[in-house]
Amino acid sequence: MAAKLIKGAEVAAQIRAELKQEVDELKAKHNLTPGLVTILVGQDPGSVSYVTAKQKTSHELGFYSIQDNQEPDITEAALLGLLDKYNKDPKIHGILVQLPLPKHIDSNKVLYGINPDKDVDAFHPVNVGRILIGNYAFLPCTPAGCQELIYRAYGDPKGKEVVVVGRSNIVGKPMVAIMIQKRAGANATVTCVHTGTPKDKMIEHCRRADILIVAAGVPNYIQADWVKEGVCVIDVGVNRIGMTESGKAKLAGDVDFAAVSEKASFITPVPGGVGPMTITMLMKNTVMAAKLAAGLVKL
Ligand code: NAP
Repeated sequence: MAAKLIKGAEVAAQIRAELKQEVDELKAKHNLTPGLVTILVGQDPGSVSYVTAKQKTSHELGFYSIQDNQEPDITEAALLGLLDKYNKDPKIHGILVQLPLPKHIDSNKVLYGINPDKDVDAFHPVNVGRILIGNYAFLPCTPAGCQELIYRAYGDPKGKEVVVVGRSNIVGKPMVAIMIQKRAGANATVTCVHTGTPKDKMIEHCRRADILIVAAGVPNYIQADWVKEGVCVIDVGVNRIGMTESGKAKLAGDVDFAAVSEKASFITPVPGGVGPMTITMLMKNTVMAAKLAAGLVKL
Protein backbone atom coordinates (compact mmCIF):
# COMPACT_ATOMS: atom_id res chain seq x y z
CA MET A 1 0.00 0.00 0.00
CA ALA A 2 1.36 3.45 -0.86
CA ALA A 3 0.35 5.76 1.97
CA LYS A 4 -1.58 8.98 1.50
CA LEU A 5 0.50 11.94 2.62
CA ILE A 6 -0.98 14.02 5.44
CA LYS A 7 0.06 17.52 4.45
CA GLY A 8 0.31 19.66 7.55
CA ALA A 9 0.41 22.94 5.67
CA GLU A 10 -2.93 22.21 3.96
CA VAL A 11 -4.66 21.19 7.19
CA ALA A 12 -3.16 24.19 9.00
CA ALA A 13 -4.44 26.54 6.26
CA GLN A 14 -7.92 25.03 6.60
CA ILE A 15 -7.91 25.54 10.41
CA ARG A 16 -6.62 29.12 10.02
CA ALA A 17 -9.48 29.88 7.60
CA GLU A 18 -11.94 28.57 10.21
CA LEU A 19 -10.22 30.65 12.91
CA LYS A 20 -10.31 33.81 10.78
CA GLN A 21 -14.07 33.44 10.43
CA GLU A 22 -14.41 32.88 14.18
CA VAL A 23 -12.27 35.94 14.96
CA ASP A 24 -14.37 38.07 12.58
CA GLU A 25 -17.52 36.88 14.36
CA LEU A 26 -16.07 37.51 17.83
CA LYS A 27 -15.26 41.06 16.78
CA ALA A 28 -18.64 41.70 15.18
CA LYS A 29 -20.91 40.03 17.73
CA HIS A 30 -18.98 40.41 20.98
CA ASN A 31 -16.58 43.30 20.38
CA LEU A 32 -13.86 40.83 21.31
CA THR A 33 -10.41 40.83 19.67
CA PRO A 34 -8.10 37.98 20.71
CA GLY A 35 -4.83 39.40 22.06
CA LEU A 36 -1.47 37.65 22.03
CA VAL A 37 1.90 38.77 23.38
CA THR A 38 5.04 36.92 22.37
CA ILE A 39 8.00 37.62 24.63
CA LEU A 40 11.48 37.10 23.22
CA VAL A 41 14.56 37.32 25.44
CA GLY A 42 17.72 37.89 23.38
CA GLN A 43 18.10 37.37 19.66
CA ASP A 44 18.71 33.66 19.14
CA PRO A 45 18.14 33.28 15.36
CA GLY A 46 15.93 30.19 15.71
CA SER A 47 13.77 31.89 18.36
CA VAL A 48 13.54 35.09 16.30
CA SER A 49 12.23 33.16 13.32
CA TYR A 50 9.65 31.24 15.44
CA VAL A 51 8.42 34.43 17.09
CA THR A 52 8.27 36.27 13.76
CA ALA A 53 6.16 33.47 12.28
CA LYS A 54 3.82 33.53 15.30
CA GLN A 55 3.38 37.29 15.03
CA LYS A 56 2.79 37.12 11.26
CA THR A 57 0.04 34.52 11.69
CA SER A 58 -1.61 36.41 14.54
CA HIS A 59 -1.69 39.59 12.41
CA GLU A 60 -3.20 37.66 9.48
CA LEU A 61 -5.97 36.41 11.76
CA GLY A 62 -6.72 39.93 12.98
CA PHE A 63 -5.48 39.53 16.56
CA TYR A 64 -4.31 42.36 18.79
CA SER A 65 -0.66 41.42 18.81
CA ILE A 66 2.40 42.54 20.72
CA GLN A 67 5.97 41.45 20.11
CA ASP A 68 7.90 42.21 23.31
CA ASN A 69 11.69 41.97 22.82
CA GLN A 70 13.81 41.93 25.95
CA GLU A 71 17.58 42.19 26.34
CA PRO A 72 19.40 38.87 27.04
CA ASP A 73 20.54 40.16 30.45
CA ILE A 74 17.02 40.87 31.75
CA THR A 75 16.75 39.60 35.32
CA GLU A 76 14.38 36.82 36.31
CA ALA A 77 12.56 39.24 38.62
CA ALA A 78 12.10 41.77 35.80
CA LEU A 79 10.76 39.06 33.48
CA LEU A 80 8.31 37.91 36.17
CA GLY A 81 7.26 41.56 36.59
CA LEU A 82 6.60 41.75 32.85
CA LEU A 83 4.44 38.63 33.03
CA ASP A 84 2.51 40.17 35.89
CA LYS A 85 1.79 43.21 33.70
CA TYR A 86 0.45 41.03 30.87
CA ASN A 87 -1.42 38.78 33.30
CA LYS A 88 -3.38 41.88 34.37
CA ASP A 89 -3.82 43.37 30.86
CA PRO A 90 -7.43 42.71 29.75
CA LYS A 91 -6.51 43.15 26.08
CA ILE A 92 -4.01 40.28 26.28
CA HIS A 93 -5.55 36.80 26.34
CA GLY A 94 -2.52 34.71 25.46
CA ILE A 95 1.06 35.00 26.73
CA LEU A 96 3.87 33.13 25.07
CA VAL A 97 7.44 33.19 26.36
CA GLN A 98 9.71 31.88 23.62
CA LEU A 99 12.06 29.15 24.86
CA PRO A 100 14.91 28.59 25.44
CA LEU A 101 15.61 31.33 27.96
CA PRO A 102 19.15 32.41 28.95
CA LYS A 103 20.79 30.18 31.58
CA HIS A 104 20.50 32.73 34.42
CA ILE A 105 16.70 32.49 34.23
CA ASP A 106 14.75 29.53 35.64
CA SER A 107 12.40 28.64 32.76
CA ASN A 108 9.98 26.77 35.01
CA LYS A 109 9.64 29.74 37.35
CA VAL A 110 8.82 31.92 34.34
CA LEU A 111 6.34 29.49 32.80
CA TYR A 112 4.65 29.06 36.18
CA GLY A 113 4.38 32.86 36.39
CA ILE A 114 1.89 32.94 33.52
CA ASN A 115 -1.78 33.06 34.51
CA PRO A 116 -2.99 29.53 33.54
CA ASP A 117 -5.98 31.06 31.71
CA LYS A 118 -3.49 32.92 29.45
CA ASP A 119 -1.07 30.02 29.14
CA VAL A 120 -1.63 29.31 25.43
CA ASP A 121 1.32 26.88 25.30
CA ALA A 122 -0.51 24.82 27.98
CA PHE A 123 2.71 24.01 29.85
CA HIS A 124 1.60 25.38 33.25
CA PRO A 125 1.06 22.56 35.80
CA VAL A 126 -2.52 23.77 36.32
CA ASN A 127 -3.22 23.22 32.62
CA VAL A 128 -1.41 19.87 32.65
CA GLY A 129 -3.75 18.83 35.48
CA ARG A 130 -6.82 20.23 33.74
CA ILE A 131 -5.98 18.21 30.63
CA LEU A 132 -5.53 15.02 32.59
CA ILE A 133 -8.94 15.34 34.26
CA GLY A 134 -10.55 16.35 30.97
CA ASN A 135 -11.64 19.86 31.97
CA TYR A 136 -9.44 22.08 29.85
CA ALA A 137 -9.44 25.03 27.50
CA PHE A 138 -6.08 24.54 25.80
CA LEU A 139 -3.92 21.66 24.68
CA PRO A 140 -0.16 21.83 24.07
CA CYS A 141 0.29 22.86 20.46
CA THR A 142 2.29 19.99 18.94
CA PRO A 143 0.22 17.08 20.28
CA ALA A 144 -2.98 19.05 19.60
CA GLY A 145 -1.75 19.45 16.01
CA CYS A 146 -1.22 15.69 15.78
CA GLN A 147 -4.78 15.10 16.98
CA GLU A 148 -6.18 17.46 14.32
CA LEU A 149 -4.14 15.71 11.61
CA ILE A 150 -5.46 12.31 12.69
CA TYR A 151 -9.07 13.46 12.97
CA ARG A 152 -9.16 15.37 9.70
CA ALA A 153 -7.12 12.93 7.55
CA TYR A 154 -7.60 9.45 8.99
CA GLY A 155 -10.86 9.89 10.88
CA ASP A 156 -12.17 9.39 14.41
CA PRO A 157 -9.64 7.47 16.54
CA LYS A 158 -12.43 6.24 18.85
CA GLY A 159 -11.79 2.62 19.79
CA LYS A 160 -8.55 2.43 17.81
CA GLU A 161 -5.23 1.18 19.15
CA VAL A 162 -2.99 4.22 19.48
CA VAL A 163 0.69 3.72 20.30
CA VAL A 164 2.77 6.74 21.32
CA VAL A 165 6.56 6.39 21.15
CA GLY A 166 8.13 8.84 23.63
CA ARG A 167 6.95 10.34 26.93
CA SER A 168 8.31 13.89 27.00
CA ASN A 169 6.28 16.54 28.82
CA ILE A 170 5.77 18.53 25.62
CA VAL A 171 4.78 15.76 23.19
CA GLY A 172 4.51 12.15 24.39
CA LYS A 173 2.71 12.53 27.75
CA PRO A 174 0.17 15.15 26.60
CA MET A 175 -0.43 13.06 23.46
CA VAL A 176 -1.43 10.15 25.68
CA ALA A 177 -3.63 12.44 27.81
CA ILE A 178 -5.34 13.81 24.68
CA MET A 179 -6.04 10.47 23.02
CA ILE A 180 -7.58 8.87 26.14
CA GLN A 181 -10.13 11.68 26.61
CA LYS A 182 -13.78 10.67 26.42
CA ARG A 183 -14.36 13.15 23.60
CA ALA A 184 -14.68 13.33 19.84
CA GLY A 185 -11.25 13.07 18.22
CA ALA A 186 -10.01 10.82 21.02
CA ASN A 187 -11.52 7.95 23.05
CA ALA A 188 -8.80 5.57 21.87
CA THR A 189 -6.99 2.71 23.58
CA VAL A 190 -3.56 4.15 24.23
CA THR A 191 -0.16 2.58 24.88
CA CYS A 192 2.99 4.60 25.50
CA VAL A 193 6.44 3.10 24.87
CA HIS A 194 9.79 4.64 25.80
CA THR A 195 13.38 3.76 26.71
CA GLY A 196 12.09 1.70 29.63
CA THR A 197 10.24 -0.59 27.21
CA PRO A 198 12.33 -3.58 26.10
CA LYS A 199 12.90 -3.32 22.36
CA ASP A 200 11.14 -6.59 21.47
CA LYS A 201 8.08 -5.46 23.49
CA MET A 202 8.18 -2.04 21.86
CA ILE A 203 8.11 -3.59 18.39
CA GLU A 204 5.22 -5.82 19.50
CA HIS A 205 3.26 -2.78 20.69
CA CYS A 206 4.03 -0.79 17.53
CA ARG A 207 2.81 -3.68 15.36
CA ARG A 208 -0.59 -3.54 17.08
CA ALA A 209 -1.07 0.16 16.38
CA ASP A 210 -3.87 1.43 14.16
CA ILE A 211 -2.38 4.86 14.77
CA LEU A 212 1.33 5.21 15.56
CA ILE A 213 2.55 8.56 16.90
CA VAL A 214 6.32 8.82 17.13
CA ALA A 215 8.16 11.48 19.15
CA ALA A 216 11.47 9.88 20.14
CA GLY A 217 13.98 12.19 18.46
CA VAL A 218 15.82 9.24 16.85
CA PRO A 219 16.21 9.56 13.07
CA ASN A 220 14.59 6.85 10.92
CA TYR A 221 13.94 4.73 14.01
CA ILE A 222 10.63 3.05 13.18
CA GLN A 223 11.12 0.30 10.61
CA ALA A 224 8.63 -1.12 8.11
CA ASP A 225 8.48 -4.50 9.86
CA TRP A 226 7.47 -2.78 13.12
CA VAL A 227 4.13 -1.60 11.69
CA LYS A 228 1.04 -3.30 10.36
CA GLU A 229 -0.54 -2.78 6.93
CA GLY A 230 -2.86 0.23 6.88
CA VAL A 231 -1.44 1.98 9.96
CA CYS A 232 -1.76 5.77 10.21
CA VAL A 233 1.68 7.18 11.10
CA ILE A 234 2.24 10.58 12.68
CA ASP A 235 5.94 11.36 12.72
CA VAL A 236 6.71 14.20 15.14
CA GLY A 237 10.49 13.79 14.96
CA VAL A 238 12.63 16.53 13.47
CA ASN A 239 16.26 15.42 13.33
CA ARG A 240 19.14 17.17 11.61
CA ILE A 241 21.11 14.52 9.72
CA GLY A 242 23.52 16.72 7.76
CA MET A 243 23.50 19.55 5.26
CA THR A 244 22.07 19.79 1.76
CA GLU A 245 24.28 20.97 -1.12
CA SER A 246 22.68 24.40 -0.81
CA GLY A 247 23.83 24.60 2.84
CA LYS A 248 20.42 23.97 4.46
CA ALA A 249 19.90 21.50 7.30
CA LYS A 250 18.91 18.07 6.03
CA LEU A 251 16.02 16.77 8.13
CA ALA A 252 14.72 13.31 8.90
CA GLY A 253 11.79 12.17 10.97
CA ASP A 254 11.73 9.35 13.50
CA VAL A 255 10.23 6.98 10.93
CA ASP A 256 11.91 5.25 7.99
CA PHE A 257 9.59 7.14 5.67
CA ALA A 258 10.32 5.39 2.35
CA ALA A 259 9.81 1.86 3.69
CA VAL A 260 7.00 2.57 6.19
CA SER A 261 4.94 4.55 3.65
CA GLU A 262 4.73 1.35 1.54
CA LYS A 263 2.66 -0.26 4.35
CA ALA A 264 0.87 2.69 5.96
CA SER A 265 -2.50 4.07 4.84
CA PHE A 266 -1.60 7.61 5.98
CA ILE A 267 1.72 9.16 6.92
CA THR A 268 3.06 12.63 7.74
CA PRO A 269 6.21 13.71 5.88
CA VAL A 270 9.16 15.44 7.60
CA PRO A 271 9.30 18.30 7.00
CA GLY A 272 5.77 19.37 6.07
CA GLY A 273 3.70 17.13 8.36
CA VAL A 274 3.33 17.97 12.05
CA GLY A 275 5.60 21.05 11.95
CA PRO A 276 3.23 23.46 10.14
CA MET A 277 0.44 22.70 12.64
CA THR A 278 2.13 24.00 15.78
CA ILE A 279 1.71 27.75 15.25
CA THR A 280 -1.85 27.30 14.04
CA MET A 281 -2.75 25.47 17.25
CA LEU A 282 -1.22 28.34 19.25
CA MET A 283 -3.62 30.67 17.43
CA LYS A 284 -6.53 28.34 18.18
CA ASN A 285 -5.57 28.42 21.86
CA THR A 286 -5.44 32.23 21.82
CA VAL A 287 -8.97 32.44 20.38
CA MET A 288 -10.09 30.01 23.10
CA ALA A 289 -8.34 32.11 25.79
CA ALA A 290 -10.21 35.20 24.56
CA LYS A 291 -13.54 33.34 24.72
CA LEU A 292 -12.65 32.07 28.20
CA ALA A 293 -11.86 35.59 29.40
CA ALA A 294 -15.14 36.90 27.94
CA GLY A 295 -17.15 34.12 29.60
CA LEU A 296 -18.20 32.71 26.21
CA VAL A 297 -16.80 29.34 27.24
CA LYS A 298 -16.43 27.96 30.74
CA LEU A 299 -14.17 25.35 32.26
P1 NAP B 1 12.56 14.44 24.13
O1 NAP B 1 12.22 15.37 25.22
O2 NAP B 1 13.99 14.12 23.83
O3 NAP B 1 11.79 13.06 24.42
C1 NAP B 1 12.00 11.93 23.63
C2 NAP B 1 11.21 10.79 24.22
O4 NAP B 1 11.43 9.64 23.41
C3 NAP B 1 11.64 10.42 25.63
O5 NAP B 1 10.50 10.12 26.39
C4 NAP B 1 12.51 9.18 25.44
O6 NAP B 1 12.40 8.26 26.49
C5 NAP B 1 11.90 8.57 24.20
N1 NAP B 1 12.91 7.83 23.44
C6 NAP B 1 14.13 8.25 23.08
N2 NAP B 1 14.76 7.26 22.41
C7 NAP B 1 13.92 6.21 22.37
C8 NAP B 1 13.99 4.90 21.85
N3 NAP B 1 15.10 4.47 21.24
N4 NAP B 1 12.93 4.08 22.00
C9 NAP B 1 11.82 4.51 22.65
N5 NAP B 1 11.69 5.74 23.16
C10 NAP B 1 12.72 6.58 23.02
O7 NAP B 1 11.96 14.89 22.74
P2 NAP B 1 10.57 15.69 22.40
O8 NAP B 1 10.70 17.09 22.79
O9 NAP B 1 9.41 14.89 22.83
O10 NAP B 1 10.66 15.63 20.81
C11 NAP B 1 10.68 14.41 20.11
C12 NAP B 1 10.98 14.69 18.65
O11 NAP B 1 9.95 15.52 18.14
C13 NAP B 1 12.28 15.47 18.40
O12 NAP B 1 12.84 15.04 17.18
C14 NAP B 1 11.82 16.91 18.29
O13 NAP B 1 12.69 17.69 17.50
C15 NAP B 1 10.50 16.73 17.61
N6 NAP B 1 9.53 17.81 17.87
C16 NAP B 1 8.89 18.32 16.80
C17 NAP B 1 7.94 19.31 16.96
C18 NAP B 1 7.21 19.85 15.77
O14 NAP B 1 6.58 20.86 15.82
N7 NAP B 1 7.23 19.15 14.64
C19 NAP B 1 7.66 19.81 18.24
C20 NAP B 1 8.31 19.24 19.34
C21 NAP B 1 9.24 18.22 19.15
P3 NAP B 1 12.87 8.56 28.00
O15 NAP B 1 11.79 9.40 28.59
O16 NAP B 1 12.97 7.23 28.63
O17 NAP B 1 14.18 9.28 27.90
